[in-house]
Amino acid sequence: MKTLTGIPASGGVGLAQFFIYTENVPLDIPRFHIQKETVRAEWDRFCSALDKARIEIEAVRNDSLKENNEILDAHLLMLEDPVFNKQVKDRLETYLLNVECVVFDVSREIIQKLIASPVEYFHERAVDIDDVAQRILRLLLDVKKETLADLTEDVVVIARNILPSDMLTMNRQRVKGIALDAGSKTSHTAILAKAFGIPAVMGLSQVTQEALDRQKAGENELVFVNGENGEVIFDLNDKTIVYKTFVQNFRNYRKNTAELMANLPAETLDGCRVTLNANIEIPEEAEQALAFGSEGIGLYRSEFLFLTHGQPAEEEAQFNAYCRVIKAMNGNPVTIRTVDIGGDKIASNRGGAVEKNPLLGARAIRFSLAFPEIFKTQLRAILRASVFGNIRIMFPMISCIVELRQALALLEEAKEQCRMKGHAFADNIPVGCMIEVPVAAEIADILAEKSAFFSIGTNDLIQYSLAVDRNNEMVNYLAQPFHPGVLRFIKKTIDAAHSANIKAAMCGELAGDTGATALLLGLGLDEFSMTASSIPRIKKIIRSVSMQDCRILAEKVRECKSAQEVQGVLDANKALP
Ligand code: PEP
Ligand code: MG
Repeated sequence: MKTLTGIPASGGVGLAQFFIYTENVPLDIPRFHIQKETVRAEWDRFCSALDKARIEIEAVRNDSLKENNEILDAHLLMLEDPVFNKQVKDRLETYLLNVECVVFDVSREIIQKLIASPVEYFHERAVDIDDVAQRILRLLLDVKKETLADLTEDVVVIARNILPSDMLTMNRQRVKGIALDAGSKTSHTAILAKAFGIPAVMGLSQVTQEALDRQKAGENELVFVNGENGEVIFDLNDKTIVYKTFVQNFRNYRKNTAELMANLPAETLDGCRVTLNANIEIPEEAEQALAFGSEGIGLYRSEFLFLTHGQPAEEEAQFNAYCRVIKAMNGNPVTIRTVDIGGDKIASNRGGAVEKNPLLGARAIRFSLAFPEIFKTQLRAILRASVFGNIRIMFPMISCIVELRQALALLEEAKEQCRMKGHAFADNIPVGCMIEVPVAAEIADILAEKSAFFSIGTNDLIQYSLAVDRNNEMVNYLAQPFHPGVLRFIKKTIDAAHSANIKAAMCGELAGDTGATALLLGLGLDEFSMTASSIPRIKKIIRSVSMQDCRILAEKVRECKSAQEVQGVLDANKALP
């Protein structure tokens, strides 16, 4: 057996043959000299790759929506581009290098020139040229184009990374596990894996190489993914049956806990009640949320509506999606977080901005304030849906009161537009803000004056307070939720909420972490929002502790000087009878 250990990013266990997804891995371009006599053959190979590329693009064009046709037409034109083709020919003759290497060099040079231009239009052309060049190179190298949408067998997907947009189009029924070189617990790929109930291990560094080596050796055996402890095991040999049974028993256990907990209240032994809500990314998830015992939607990451199409969704499409969630929740509250485009969630329409540091850039509320028409379209869709259920609106990444005031002013404008068009909307929709930038926790008392509730986004709060890119596996070890500084931000937010008589919720991954539940109760958190499938486990813990003990625990933790000390106190608490 060969075990690799990474970051347990999405719980559960899975077993299947592996499938290496290489779409996001740069192609390995060979570079060697050729004889003068082979120039002709290399040129012919290039022409034949162009022909095949044309057939491929035309097939996609016939198959796809009208709005993509423009892009595909541009790609077809590029295949005919006399300047590009002449450069390839000249270089072949002059430098006597293999054609893959020549295509790669020529396309890189053009792309670099386009990217260096201050004109945004040329940046977009660079993306198209890269796309076409990658296609030609793939055809020259005979590398098959893989897609996760067409999986027909049960697999464990192994890759360097998977983009959130790939996750949305993947055939989820067939994916029994995910193992990635990159990523971390709070990357959006991990969050989607949890949402879809797919066990995932990330930050493994070498798993793609391991799988490629095994594939080369003709070994495509079963691989076991343990999203609970971060292990990925190859070479199960005679233990296969043991692991198959383990997977089955694990699933049964989870199912039984879910059934047992579903209708019980989230109440401590001494009668303190808290609320357990679900985080969702796509409307379908809302349909299962109630079955897991969710009392509402605490975070609807509405930006996934934009990511699927790569463009802001139309008002009508958004309205329909929100209505679908409201209907599924049957009168329970639905908290729609306005779009949080940016970071690792890239939409093609960024209003022309190419950002060097997207995590520190025009993300979330900053994007919405910079593009008020897109923002107001979303707000109108939410307002129109509000008459059909119990809606709350939440703004992401608020860092100062001015942003909150501006967002609220745009909400008023959207209401006025609805009135003018004769669209009804609910009165008194609660509007809250996410606390995920450290300064927002510091000024929570100020923000509370204009907020109906807070929701603590620990994924970003940790990222920004500890200066740790949440997608970078190299620094993942520093992303410590129990860092005393992070805990102080959480406590400060909860206290400010309570002083202003509003509720403090948490929708970051920490809310669904069983190791943090007692502490969060002791800190006074009112609402926990998490992937729906985590609710039964969190509820089980809540029902097994007393609020009095949790407060004592929080007091003990307050004395700790490091995340390690906090962990020690929490572990000792778990060990108590
Ligand atoms: C967070 O930052 O904790 C959060 C819930 O928002 P997201 O993960 O979508 O950035
Ligand atoms: Mg966030």
